[in-house]
Amino acid sequence: MTIRQTLRTDGPVLLPGDTGYDEHRKALNPALDPRPAVVVRAESTADVQRAVLGARRHALPFAVQATGHGTHVAHDGALLLRTGAMASVLVDPDRRVARVGPGARWGDVLTAAAPFGLAPLSGSAPDVGVVGYTLGGGLGWLARAYGLAADSVLRAQVVTADGELTTASADRNPDLFWALRGGGGSFGVVTALDFRLYPVTRVYAGAVTFGRERAAETIAFYRRWIERVPDSLSTALLLTRDGSLVVKAMYVGDADRSRALLAPLWTVAGPVVADGMRVVDYAGAAMGGTFARTFDQVRTLDDELVTALVAEPDAAVEIRHWGGRIARDDGAAAHRDAPLSVVLDTVASPTTAAALSRCGLGSSFLNFLHDPSRTASAFTNENWAALRQIKAAYDPANIFGAGLAVPPAATSVSA
Ligand SMILES: Cc1cc2nc3c(=O)[nH]c(=O)nc-3n(C[C@H](O)[C@H](O)[C@H](O)COP(=O)(O)OP(=O)(O)OC[C@H]3O[C@@H](n4cnc5c(N)ncnc54)[C@H](O)[C@@H]3O)c2cc1C
Repeated sequence: MTIRQTLRTDGPVLLPGDTGYDEHRKALNPALDPRPAVVVRAESTADVQRAVLGARRHALPFAVQATGHGTHVAHDGALLLRTGAMASVLVDPDRRVARVGPGARWGDVLTAAAPFGLAPLSGSAPDVGVVGYTLGGGLGWLARAYGLAADSVLRAQVVTADGELTTASADRNPDLFWALRGGGGSFGVVTALDFRLYPVTRVYAGAVTFGRERAAETIAFYRRWIERVPDSLSTALLLTRDGSLVVKAMYVGDADRSRALLAPLWTVAGPVVADGMRVVDYAGAAMGGTFARTFDQVRTLDDELVTALVAEPDAAVEIRHWGGRIARDDGAAAHRDAPLSVVLDTVASPTTAAALSRCGLGSSFLNFLHDPSRTASAFTNENWAALRQIKAAYDPANIFGAGLAVPPAATSVSA
């Protein structure tokens, strides 16, 4: 039987040469030119089950993609499941919970939740998929106040490696529930996700631009200043390629209070070139992001690292404050104890790389990682070992092994 005959899905099955194959085989990264054996555009949970079972039956590698924002390897020869058509969003304003389908994007949730005075823990781009972002941890501008998105998940419906539809929650399959909240797409295909919403409507947010002359003093000041700020204030320092120092901030609360908190930092940074801080709708706050070619979580920024970052040639550098609620939760996602991360949009120079490794944890964050060989670095050793055990229980044959995957723990063979 051919794969088309086996699948019998509600949504289209696209083989090389079919109309639509070229459009739907792609990831967002233009450097990838994937050639999957077949693309399945799922329209229902039953389609997801058929796709998982079809891949197994035809011994095809399996991959799932909602938007292509987090696809870093070419799924050549695979069955690629596209979930974009399953983009439902339901908001329960009384319980402050949203339920989304696997194709939903953050923009859909922001639009659905805002009329009720609620907001999700979305990230910097409304086009990113809710499920992929959340399974990978989910670091947004509300994370210091309300935590990583993964820690706000209440329930997931999952098609597991045997093609069965399973519920994961605190009460049902709690081990799978724990692993999904930060462990990425290694444990099954999520077909519905329930997560908390928060009473956030207007925020004081944006960026203030300075010249770069006082960048070193500002970074040195920042590393102490962050110890005193409340969880409701999130900030990042950005050294731009055009020679500016930018202080990005979002404050959940009153603008005057926020300006008072930020004033010492602005004073050190020097004369303001442009003040883009405004009271805006959370859904409309355009905080931007820096492409993370180099990403490190750091314990501190010592003077040599500060000097190296300021001197980094031809790079945009972003220093971001973590902590707050992120550090108080203890889910599978991320290393919680680093107060800061450093992102460069290029490969770091040898001087910067040496300074980063001295100040850093050697860790990464799953959502900002592009190299599958470094997946373990996104987790603590303890969480990585636990994730591998759960993987071995739910997907011992590593069906969900594409991309940034957790390999199953080796099973011991009894004599
Ligand atoms: C412009 C941009 C901005 C970003 N901003 C942020 C940010 O602010 N904070 C942050 O934390 N991350 C951010 N990211 C990273 C982003 O969250 C991850 O790349 C995430 O994996 C994207 O999910 P996706 O579904 O959109 O991408 P896709 O490429 O469609 O999917 C990526 C992976 O997610 C998993 N996945 C997707 N759907 C399912 C499913 N239904 N079941 C199981 N697994 C699934 C799979 O492993 C898949 O390979 C950003 C990325 C980009 C490109």
